[in-house]
Amino acid sequence: MKLNDDARFSTICIHAGQEPDPSTGAIITPIYQTSTYVQEGLGQHKGYEYGRTHNPTRMALERNVAAIEAGVAGFAFASGMAAIDAILTRLEAGDHVLVSDNTYGGTFRLFERVRRKFGLCFSYVDSSNLDLIEPAITPRTKYLFLESPTNPLLRITDLAAASDIAHRHGVRVVVDNTFASPYLQQPLALGADIVVHSTTKFLNGHSDSVGGIVVAVKDEHIEWLKFVQNAEGAILGPMDAWLVLRGTKTLPIRMERHNANALALAEFLAAHPVVRRVHYPGLPSHPQHALARKQMCGFGGLISLELGSLDKARTLLEGVRLMSLAESLGGVETLISHPATMTHASVPADRRQAIGVTDDLVRISVGIEDVEDLREDLAQALSTL
Ligand code: PLP
Repeated sequence: MKLNDDARFSTICIHAGQEPDPSTGAIITPIYQTSTYVQEGLGQHKGYEYGRTHNPTRMALERNVAAIEAGVAGFAFASGMAAIDAILTRLEAGDHVLVSDNTYGGTFRLFERVRRKFGLCFSYVDSSNLDLIEPAITPRTKYLFLESPTNPLLRITDLAAASDIAHRHGVRVVVDNTFASPYLQQPLALGADIVVHSTTKFLNGHSDSVGGIVVAVKDEHIEWLKFVQNAEGAILGPMDAWLVLRGTKTLPIRMERHNANALALAEFLAAHPVVRRVHYPGLPSHPQHALARKQMCGFGGLISLELGSLDKARTLLEGVRLMSLAESLGGVETLISHPATMTHASVPADRRQAIGVTDDLVRISVGIEDVEDLREDLAQALSTL
C-alpha cells in the first residue's frame, strides 16, 4: 500500500499513517498493549523504549490525524481537555490568551479555575465579530483560541481573517475543530497554527472512547508538544488510539450523513410552531450562514434550539424516545442535551445568560440513523408541549 502525495481526503482517512504490521502483515495496526520494549543491547533498540514515550498504535493515529488535518505532526492525549492543557503549557505566567466567548464549558473551566492560578490571563470576545479581535489583543497575548462552530450556539468565526489579524500581532492561532471535524473544515489550511480535537466526538464517532489530539505545523510547537506529552504523560492509551484509528476511516461518509440529517431536522424544527429559534449554520436565518457556506463544506451535525422556558426544554428532553438524553456529541447515535445544566454547568449563570446559553436551550447531536425516525421522534415529543 502506497499513499500518493496527492491522495484525496477519504483515501487519506483510511490509509494515512498506517502500514501493514511489519511482523505479521496484519492490515489493521494492532493494539500494542505494552508498557515497555525489550532492548537488544545497551542503547540498542527498535526506536521504542517506554510506553509513555512511544506506542506504535498511538503513533499511527497521530500520523493519521496529522495527515487528515493537513498538518505536520499530531500528539494524542487522554482527553480533549488534556490536549488543550498541553497547548497552554507552552505559555508562561503573565501571558494572555484571547478566547472565543462561546467555548465549551470545560475549556472555560480549565482556563479560569486551573490555569489562571498559574498566572495565565484569559479574556473572551465574540470572535464571530472580527472587529472585536484586534482591540482585545495585548502585548502579552500569545494565543487566539477559537472554536468554530462554537459549542453550543454554533457561531462561526472567519478563521482565515481572524488568523491574519492575530498574525499581524505575532499571536499564534489555535482552533478547536471538534464541532466541525476536518471533513468540514481544515483550519491549518486557513492559516491557523494549531488544531485541537476532542477525539471523543466525530473523529472516533462511536461513543466508545475518550481522547484528544493536537496537530501542529511549526517546529517550535512540535518540539514542545513532543516534550510535554512525555513529560506530563497524559497520553492516549493504545486501545483508545486503535478505536479512533478505526473511526477516522469512516469519517467522510459519517459526516455526509450527519450533515444531511441535521439539515433536514433543522428545517423541520425551524418550521415547527412551538420552537422559538433554531441555531444551525445551514439555515439561511443563521447570522453567519454565508461564511459557513464559504468556509465549511457542510454544516455539521449539531443543532441548538430555544423553546421559551426550562419546563418546555425538560418536556422535550424527557419526551424523546429514540434520541438519548446524554452529554457528548459526534457519535452515530443521536444525543439530546441541556447545555445550561450539562455541558456548560461549569460556566457561571450570569455569564451563560450573557453568551446566550439560556435555560430553554436544547442541543441535539444528530446521529446517522434514518432521518424519518428522528423526525418522528421529535414530532411526537414536541406535540406534548
Ligand atoms: N472541545 C469541545 C468543543 C468539546 O465539546 C469538548 C467536550 O465536549 C472538549 C473540547 C473536551 O473534550 P473531552 O471531553 O474529550 O475532554
